[in-house]
Amino acid sequence: MRVLLTGGSGFIAAHVLDILLDHGHSVVTTVRSQQKAKAIADAHTSYGKDKLDFAIVEDIAQENAFDEAVKSDPPFEAVIHTASPFHFNVTDVQKQLLDPAIIGTTGILKSVKKSAPSVKKVVITSSFASIINPFKGTWPVHTYSEADWNPITSEQAVENPAAGYRASKTFAERAAWDFLEKEKPNFTISTMCPPLVLGPIVHYLNSLDGLNTSNQRIRDIMQGKAKDEIPETGTFIWVDVRDLALCHVLSIEKEEAANKRFFITAGYFSNKEIAQVVGKEYPQYKDQLPTEKTPGGDYPKDGVYKIDNSRVKDVLGIKFRSFEESIKDTVKSLQAVGA
Ligand code: NDP
Repeated sequence: MRVLLTGGSGFIAAHVLDILLDHGHSVVTTVRSQQKAKAIADAHTSYGKDKLDFAIVEDIAQENAFDEAVKSDPPFEAVIHTASPFHFNVTDVQKQLLDPAIIGTTGILKSVKKSAPSVKKVVITSSFASIINPFKGTWPVHTYSEADWNPITSEQAVENPAAGYRASKTFAERAAWDFLEKEKPNFTISTMCPPLVLGPIVHYLNSLDGLNTSNQRIRDIMQGKAKDEIPETGTFIWVDVRDLALCHVLSIEKEEAANKRFFITAGYFSNKEIAQVVGKEYPQYKDQLPTEKTPGGDYPKDGVYKIDNSRVKDVLGIKFRSFEESIKDTVKSLQAVGA
């Protein structure tokens, strides 16, 4: 298939790109600069321009940002939209989180409808942030599934960056489903809703300081930041980036994925368990790591919400990697950039 992948420089997108190429698809990926395009191209020299090419989209928050990128010869058959800000380092939630997430999502859907009639499938990276009810805490009596929606409002969204991020994903995903209903486009939509995504980074785009948000807690634990007290885990569920990336690709390959939302999680974890796996697999970090006696980072005493991840297993046939394998491979990848 000829596929447009947005945000190809991202942590998750880098794995989506590799699986697309491995499955024989022909990919154009959007990045914000020529420099990022070159870094990706240099790491994939065995693929010609017909298999891997680039389009520059500097800012997805601009209306019509994707108008040119969706045009291609041969024409696209599928679009995977991953680009969206995921960090909490913002001063203006509206401009830095909500606009790029929402306008980015509606923008690409509009551009595809207008200028890429050959596209039959659109996959969007949403998040567990659009599923979780942040006002219920750890909600032990509840089972989260695709049926749940974060009830956050526009007023609550601008209260702080964490709320802003969760709202950005909720509103963007809602806008996508609304688009499908109102515009009745020629394509289907599938949304990917992962919680915390852990797993190896690709070395050619990363540095230890500029690490993607979700892996930062592993780096911080390795660097001794949890030695006296382990930070609260926050979200107690996770998925490996390679499994999530495969879900994106399977969603353009399998008809059964059309017009479905997928809650994509491998299961539970705690920050304490991250430290335990790092210590077991890499004894050289022992002096930086917390011990069994270090407080914090554990599961809440009252328990935590339950999860129903049956749809992704049934429809996409995914088998999830283990937490140990994921942490082990993440640390190895961080060592390649100097950890
Ligand atoms: P990254 O920060 O590594 O990737 C984000 C990508 O989006 C980058 O390519 C970034 O480009 C691009 N981007 C952000 N803002 C803009 C903008 N205004 N214009 C153009 N491009 C932009 O994060 P992840 O790979 O982790 O995130 C990818 C997707 O997955 C996001 O939609 C995120 O919400 C979602 N997600 C991630 C989870 C996680 O735990 N990692 C959990 C749940 C969902 P650049 O790097 O050049 O700025």
